[in-house]
Amino acid sequence: MIYFVGAGSGDVELITVKGKRLLEEASLVVYVGSLVNPALLEYCRPDCEKVDSARLTLEEIIALLCARREDETVVRLHTGDPSLYGAIAEQMRLLDERGRAYQIVPGVSSMSAAAAALKAEFTPPGVSQSVIISRRAGRTAVPEKESIPSLASHGASMVLFLSAGMLKDLCRELIEGGYPPDTPAAVVYKASWPDEEIVRGSLCDISEKAQHITKTALVLVGDFLKGGVERSRLYDPGFSHGYREAEK
Ligand code: SAH
Repeated sequence: MIYFVGAGSGDVELITVKGKRLLEEASLVVYVGSLVNPALLEYCRPDCEKVDSARLTLEEIIALLCARREDETVVRLHTGDPSLYGAIAEQMRLLDERGRAYQIVPGVSSMSAAAAALKAEFTPPGVSQSVIISRRAGRTAVPEKESIPSLASHGASMVLFLSAGMLKDLCRELIEGGYPPDTPAAVVYKASWPDEEIVRGSLCDISEKAQHITKTALVLVGDFLKGGVERSRLYDPGFSHGYREAEK
């Protein structure tokens, strides 16, 4: 069976129990060498073949995965959670065409690891109840309706992947879209890795403060970074719900 496994954001303890078991069983692991922590490969059997996919084409990756028998455990190891900017859709389509079975094991996305590093909640009541996950168009196009200014117009909590190298233009477009220039912003480099770095600021000054960070980073924007928010109704003593009666 072929498994697409989310490796987590970097820290080797942030892979799921299931993902770790599959790495221990695998006879072949094809991993995203540019972002996956190589220490994760220490979970593999000594005779496991490990291939970095960085220099391979889509067709070469699929040929490698399919060269193994169906009863072997084959792992395609992606960073974070494979459903976000993982390019797994095109791999799954080719496996479907070849009639090869596969399963997906989710992982801890870098967006969760970045929120943890910042000790932030994306959805505090009274601030924002939505998270917009996007990227600025670079070499990969973004649909026009999802341009940064149009997404910014919601004023929601926002996480931007693959955009740290375009911070100045990004901040300009976020302000153009309607975020006040003093909106809090943060850049988190290598969330959950030993060399993690956090830069905090606002849309006015973050591009200068985080100038030295150009890749493997997320940009987070919104008032959720402020802290000091309204309390939730979930744990409010005056609010009843399915598991608890309100205090009188
Ligand atoms: N599937 C991955 C994202 C892959 S796209 C996930 O769920 O996290 C690669 C981009 O993700 C990088 O350019 C960077 O923007 C972000 N990224 C990946 N790992 C990161 C980390 N540990 N810290 C901060 N950003 C990270």
